[in-house]
Amino acid sequence: MRSWCLHPWLIAAAFLLPHGPALAAAPAPVAAQPSPSKAGAAQFDALLKRLQGTELWAEPSEEAVLRRLAELERLVPPGDPVRELRYRALRCDWDFWEDPKGQLAYADESLARARKLEDGIGQASFHYCRASALDQLHGSAAAMVEYEAGIDLSRRIRNDRLLADGLSLRGATHSLLGEQSRAIPDLVAAQQLYERAGAKADAESLLLDIAISYRRMGELAKAREYLVQNEAYAKALGDWAQLIGNLLQQGYLAEDQGRVEDALGIYRRALAIAREHDSAYDIATIHLAMAWPYILRQDYERALALVERAQSEFAELGSRVNDDMIALRMGQAHAGLGRHAQALADYERAAAALERSDNRRYLALLYRARARSEQAIGRNDAAFADLERYIDVHESITGAERGQQAQLLRSQFDADRQKLENERLAREKALRDRQLEALLQARRWQWTAMALGGVLLLLLGALVMRQVVRMRRLREMASTDPLTGVANRRSIEQLGEHAIARAQSSREPLSALAIDVDHFKQVNDRHGHLTGDQVLARIATTCRDALRHFDLLGRTGGEEFLVLLPRTRLDHAQPIAERLRTAIAALDCSDIADGLHLSISIGMAELRPDDAHLKDLVARADAALYRAKANGRNRIETEAIAA
Ligand code: GH3
Ligand code: MG
Ligand code: MG
Repeated sequence: MRSWCLHPWLIAAAFLLPHGPALAAAPAPVAAQPSPSKAGAAQFDALLKRLQGTELWAEPSEEAVLRRLAELERLVPPGDPVRELRYRALRCDWDFWEDPKGQLAYADESLARARKLEDGIGQASFHYCRASALDQLHGSAAAMVEYEAGIDLSRRIRNDRLLADGLSLRGATHSLLGEQSRAIPDLVAAQQLYERAGAKADAESLLLDIAISYRRMGELAKAREYLVQNEAYAKALGDWAQLIGNLLQQGYLAEDQGRVEDALGIYRRALAIAREHDSAYDIATIHLAMAWPYILRQDYERALALVERAQSEFAELGSRVNDDMIALRMGQAHAGLGRHAQALADYERAAAALERSDNRRYLALLYRARARSEQAIGRNDAAFADLERYIDVHESITGAERGQQAQLLRSQFDADRQKLENERLAREKALRDRQLEALLQARRWQWTAMALGGVLLLLLGALVMRQVVRMRRLREMASTDPLTGVANRRSIEQLGEHAIARAQSSREPLSALAIDVDHFKQVNDRHGHLTGDQVLARIATTCRDALRHFDLLGRTGGEEFLVLLPRTRLDHAQPIAERLRTAIAALDCSDIADGLHLSISIGMAELRPDDAHLKDLVARADAALYRAKANGRNRIETEAIAA
């Protein structure tokens, strides 16, 4: 695709677009053996692909380009309307139409044919071609409608390549119209589509257009970034034409940034490359570009010489594209040299072209420069009017730049914000996941802890229980006589004291029986000490069994026991003592030792109100026991009743 109506440096990248998908839509050969017409189709396809690539760009002259187009036309297989449309699409873009109306008519007719064939690729291509003609006839706004149509169609038929073509064209037009905030998204989208489609060259060359857009909206740092990227690419590819375009942009950028010497250095580099490749158009363009830094250096002679040289070079090439800029620079050089009348004449020529194209950046330059010259020759009213125009245009430019920067920033910001928001959400989700994981972990630990706690509690309980049992046993051991299992001396004395206290306070009777086994020494002597022990245990058990549950029994000495009978007077104690005596006397100990006969002597006493302690009562019971022994043993004696 080609168009001369836009700035060649801008367009060079945008139009160098091989139309790969166009080929894909051509009918594929059906038979394995290609017939002559099939072979013709294959030949056509091969040439079309080459021409859509870089070959037409490489042709040295218009005639050569037209020869290649004619060559392709001859290869159109007869009765193959789709391939014919492919040829027409290429011609529509590349023919050097004398009259844009002719191009428009050709595009219209082709578009109608493509519609009839329902050929989406053809339709989109002809929309773009119509845009090229309409741009020249009615300006960029008219072209824009066609770009939109082509872009819509490309989207519908999902042809990324054609979509990228449309977006890059529309982006370039937006850029020229000064709508950089619209241009940049289009160009970037096109660049990404090319990249995705594997059209690396197209993707990389769009970097230059993006850089230009950024420069035009005053985003100079951003522009430089893209230019540096694109320069590296152009060098690597050996694409000198693109490299020159890049260097020119770097030069403009240096001017914008006030780096006049840098700009000159860059232009000289570009000039060397252009001369090396004998590129007359580039040489003319660079000569024109170099005028401005010399004007800024107030080297007006040199600037004027350069502009005049560029003017004649462009004239030789038959190009009038830069007439407005030539006139403007010439005027500025003349004004610098004090030739204001000449300058005003130059500005007049420039104004006509610039006002037509509504290039506000250059218009602003023009109005300000013209005002100076008008003032210099005393046309103050005109100068004032131009200054007002300058202010208006300048304000509209800076306002638009600000608005565009804001708009672009907003869309970038939106994208950034979306990105940040997504990152934030992802972070939060990760955090929640971690928290959840931690919680689950904690729960697991909690359960573990609870289970462990339960086990510990059980263990503790068991320990406590064991301790309790142990304590009780210890206490029992402390209070129990190990041999007989009845209360030991200390314990029965304690119990006795309590019982006496209770009896005294409640004025209840209490009786005591002091018991001593008769001739126990003989048991030991005859049957051994161990048997004696067994006998003692048997005697204790027998006594225990013969007593009431609330009666108290304790071992007070070797073979001596004490029984306390609460709420029992002596007369009631008597039968109890008798029951004990007869039980022991009747005890069968044959299982322990043969021929063993036992008896006990018992001394009884009853608590007296003046008995303060157990020993008082026991002393009287002991005295009675002593008498029982003395009176023949195996008997019961009662304390002497106090007179
Ligand atoms: P009596 O009381 O009828 O006058 O005669 P006795 O043989 O019981 O006399 P005594 O009170 O002098 O002797 C008590 C004996 O009891 C002396 C001792 O060998 C014996 N004895 C004391 N404690 C124990 C004991 O724990 N185990 C055994 N096997 N014998 C004991
Ligand atoms: Mg004794
Ligand atoms: Mg005894």
